[in-house]
Amino acid sequence: MKTVAALDQGTTSSRAILFGEDTAVLAAAQRPFRQIYPQPAWVEHDPDDILSSTLSCLAEALGRAGVSPCDVAAIGITNQRETTVVWDRATGRPVCNAIVWQCRRTAPIVERLRAMGMAADIHRITGLVPDAYFSATKLAWILENVPGVRARAEKGELCAGTVDSWLIWNLTGGRVHATDYSNASRTMLFDIDRLRWDETLCAALRIPMSLLPEPRPSSGDFGVLADDLPGLEAFAGVPIRGCAGDQPASLFGQCCFAPGEAKNTYGTGCFLLQNTGEVSPRSRSGLLTSVAWQLGGKTTYAIEGSVFNAGSSIQWLRDELGLISSAQECDRLAETVPDTGDVYFVSAFTGLGAPHWDMYARGTAVGLTRGTTKAHLCRAALEGIAYQTADLVRAMAEDGCTLSELRVDGGASRSDVMMRFQADVLGIPVRRPAMTETTAAGAAYLAGLSAGVWRDTAEIEALLRTDRVFLPENDVSARYARWRQAVELSKNWAAR
Ligand code: ADP
Repeated sequence: MKTVAALDQGTTSSRAILFGEDTAVLAAAQRPFRQIYPQPAWVEHDPDDILSSTLSCLAEALGRAGVSPCDVAAIGITNQRETTVVWDRATGRPVCNAIVWQCRRTAPIVERLRAMGMAADIHRITGLVPDAYFSATKLAWILENVPGVRARAEKGELCAGTVDSWLIWNLTGGRVHATDYSNASRTMLFDIDRLRWDETLCAALRIPMSLLPEPRPSSGDFGVLADDLPGLEAFAGVPIRGCAGDQPASLFGQCCFAPGEAKNTYGTGCFLLQNTGEVSPRSRSGLLTSVAWQLGGKTTYAIEGSVFNAGSSIQWLRDELGLISSAQECDRLAETVPDTGDVYFVSAFTGLGAPHWDMYARGTAVGLTRGTTKAHLCRAALEGIAYQTADLVRAMAEDGCTLSELRVDGGASRSDVMMRFQADVLGIPVRRPAMTETTAAGAAYLAGLSAGVWRDTAEIEALLRTDRVFLPENDVSARYARWRQAVELSKNWAAR
């Protein structure tokens, strides 16, 4: 049987998952790695930790499955997006730690871009809104602040890239310096319509274009495994044939292949992506547009919104309030009451993102009475996640992107009570797949399609199994209006 290995390089851990041609998971391995917080609001990773954890997971998963090198048709990579690495072209050594997507140190560089009047150009060219989240200002910061880096970059001695590029470079023994269009889309340097790096944005940030990886289709050639990778010597020559950022990979893994199909991942935060087909709309409500993937010469775009705090509100009930001992208990308690008793919980712990965009908003519980119980609060926290998702779906609809079904994944999608309410508040079916490893699956599918393991996306879709479909049963539009009132009350609270 042919197999495909997916490398899922996440923010807190690296994983490798081996899929069979029937899309079943054959083996998996996972390693957490060090988070580095040098200053408040700064977040770094050691690029060597990223690499070594990924390589050892791959070796472990392959070993566990007991497959021989000729059984592995291809490798697919999916990764934490935006995190930026710069390394020496000759020695392969990083010039400093990777700057992680969460890191806010480059906010002043973003302000500089805004002051230069670049915001509209950035939105038009890249589909993004100027923010420290994206790679561009992280790369500019390294050039401006790490001694000697600018001179070396200008001499062409350095390579830069997101985590996918760093992995591809190392897995191929320094032969391939490439990225895929979905990862390139999150740098804030990439023209998502022309599919090339944008000279004006690079010039505005004084980024030499020779630093940048070659952008390539997400399903296609990314080189082959080098012959000296520790623990993987026997697998030299296995081709890397797929690459996509984590969220577009999970959109692909959920088989959202057609325009209008969408998925929401319920983790610490939520990431909602909708396939917009071959058109790349620009949002009026602060949603982001990126290339989701390019496959068989066809570019597919996605519109994206995120909720900063979703599952983290359940963690907060557990760890800070001690109201529950586990997320499952939150579900059980929420099921004991028919509604929240008019309590609304807005988990704006770190402000609100699209479509509200208020970084001064803070977490709020309204409607508390002497009769409010912890069951009501648990239910309000779960419903709050569903309402925030509905706010994103509404914003997408205002941008002309309507949904007829939502596919769900991520740890908190296991909550039946929340998924039932999600269907009610959206008024559309919510589909939870049996396969929970959607991100890794997406990377495996992109690689396997290129390697001929699967003929086309229809063949993959036919293998997709649904765990459960939640249908809308109750009209909760009056409650949704109350939610919007609660959101207004959470806004503009933090001291400036
Ligand atoms: P991440 O990848 O962001 O770390 P996961 O996909 O592993 O997140 O999901 C973990 C999150 O989901 C946690 O914030 C947790 O509180 C929440 N969660 C997990 N199970 C449940 C559940 N049954 N009900 C509600 N929330 C849950």
